[in-house]
Amino acid sequence: MAVHALIPAAGSGRRMGADGNKQYLPLGDRPILAHTLARLAALDAIDGLHVIVPADECRYCRDEIVDRFALSKICGVVAGGAERQDSVRHGLAACGAADDDLVLIHDGVRPFFPAAQIAPLLAAAAADGAALLAVPAQDTIKEVADGRVVKTLDRSRLWQVQTPQAFRCAVIRAAHERARQAGYAGTDDAALVEWCGWPVAVLPGSPFNFKLTTPTDLVLARALLAAGIVEGC
Ligand code: C5P
Repeated sequence: MAVHALIPAAGSGRRMGADGNKQYLPLGDRPILAHTLARLAALDAIDGLHVIVPADECRYCRDEIVDRFALSKICGVVAGGAERQDSVRHGLAACGAADDDLVLIHDGVRPFFPAAQIAPLLAAAAADGAALLAVPAQDTIKEVADGRVVKTLDRSRLWQVQTPQAFRCAVIRAAHERARQAGYAGTDDAALVEWCGWPVAVLPGSPFNFKLTTPTDLVLARALLAAGIVEGC
């Protein structure tokens, strides 16, 4: 049973406010995306990676990330789509995974994923079909409409969901295909599996596994790395 990693990195990075795509911004000695890919490639559990970037960045990613940092296990650089869900679907089509294989999907802009959780995550996906990492919500979360609170959600039941998320290939392919046909859109891959009515296991993630979305996230990531609190590659 092979393990294929798909790395969606085809967003526009508008919220980072930088010129060009956020995942190419430097973090220590290399771009954010190079950390994420190298840390995943270093894991024995992962057989190969496909990185998914905007169509007009495929060459740049190959030259300036994959070749420049001599990254191993990169099996393909794939053109993404308009939404994250489209990008992952393109990756699923390109990766050549067999139905029994496992697919691990991880955002390119989360370089500090907890490496020790990958083996348990894959084991849970093999057993249950789908599994994700999450941390308990720290803030109180309210539903709001038109500037007024609609209701307060029960924080003791809320988890903030991260990637990596792992799946049996047949499960995630079928979920993406059903969602595409029905026009259902989810903001993560597990949401599509849930929408199909199939189980998703939840394992503890890490507070350091945040998505580098805004300039503040980048300042924090650089400080954590410089202080040796998190590991780059
Ligand atoms: O937009 P969001 O913050 O949810 O993005 C999470 C990840 O999905 C990022 O790594 C981003 O590059 C990727 N993405 C993608 N294709 C899109 C939009 C986002 O691969 N069309």
